[in-house]
Amino acid sequence: MRRALAELDRSAGLRLLRVSSFYVTEPWGGVPQADFYNLAAAVATTLAPRELLAVCQRAEDRLGRRRDGPRWGPREIDIDILLLGDIVWHDESLTIPHPFLTERAFVLTPLREIAPDLRLPGGELVAGLEGTGRARKLNYP
Ligand code: AMP
Repeated sequence: MRRALAELDRSAGLRLLRVSSFYVTEPWGGVPQADFYNLAAAVATTLAPRELLAVCQRAEDRLGRRRDGPRWGPREIDIDILLLGDIVWHDESLTIPHPFLTERAFVLTPLREIAPDLRLPGGELVAGLEGTGRARKLNYP
């Protein structure tokens, strides 16, 4: 995850601003597998939505992400775009805000830590959302 952040920060048109703690979360989707690690990061970017997705996917590839596993299964790294300012975007390869943003504690908990005043494009306060599942903060240097 630190390497993923470094990859992103090295990318043209993108700078890392803030990173949450690491969280351990239970896996979703019924595939028996180990716990996941999650974090949220805030970036400043001049990239358009599809360009930002390409940068995220290139960082995943450079970290050895394979795309042949089961949906919801274990993966080396997964970088998702949660929000991009007030932009609402939907096409065949990208949806912003991320469709699961409002549902999952493993997204909401780290996001609240770095951006307690963050609002969805419709105005709803992200910190007010609950989400299901549990995200346990790691005491990590
Ligand atoms: P994942 O398994 O999480 O890496 O997601 C697989 C696909 O989800 C990617 O290839 C993207 O095209 C698509 N996708 C749709 N919306 C988003 C988003 N907000 N952030 C990242 N990927 C997205």
